[in-house]
Amino acid sequence: MEHVPCDTHMRERLDPVIPESLRPSFTSVFRQLQRGKALEEMVFLEGHYLVALDGTGYFSSPTIHCASCLQKVHRNGSITYYHQMLGAAIIHPDVREVIPLMPEPIKFISIKPSVATESGGPGSCAGHSRVPSPDHGHPASTGGSGPSRYGSA
Ligand SMILES: [Zn+2]
Repeated sequence: MEHVPCDTHMRERLDPVIPESLRPSFTSVFRQLQRGKALEEMVFLEGHYLVALDGTGYFSSPTIHCASCLQKVHRNGSITYYHQMLGAAIIHPDVREVIPLMPEPIKFISIKPSVATESGGPGSCAGHSRVPSPDHGHPASTGGSGPSRYGSA
């Protein structure tokens, strides 16, 4: 690639992409790695893999929000709405390559009217967290910057 697209161009290209539509690609690559025995060299300890996790913010707004938005309530009572996702990759200290896994959204889920929690963490790989992104136009992630990149928080 000779020229890396600017942030705005990247967002324009990525905003319409439904994140869940990427899952088959991750699954396909992972199956090929399994069949090709590439996972075997990634075994770290007694048949187990080492997975690096990192959360990153990709949307933040003082006004635009959806039912899945996480919320940060500031001292002055204002609210910042934001979205984060959990990225994961199988790693091995002796292997240069890493195997990225499908990122999972960290979403606000109200269990009872007065009780709420975040989901999308390491223990939430069940299907209920695999929901396409919210229906308001979030800017797509173009790097490792957090919510503050979009000028709030
Ligand atoms: Zn939202």
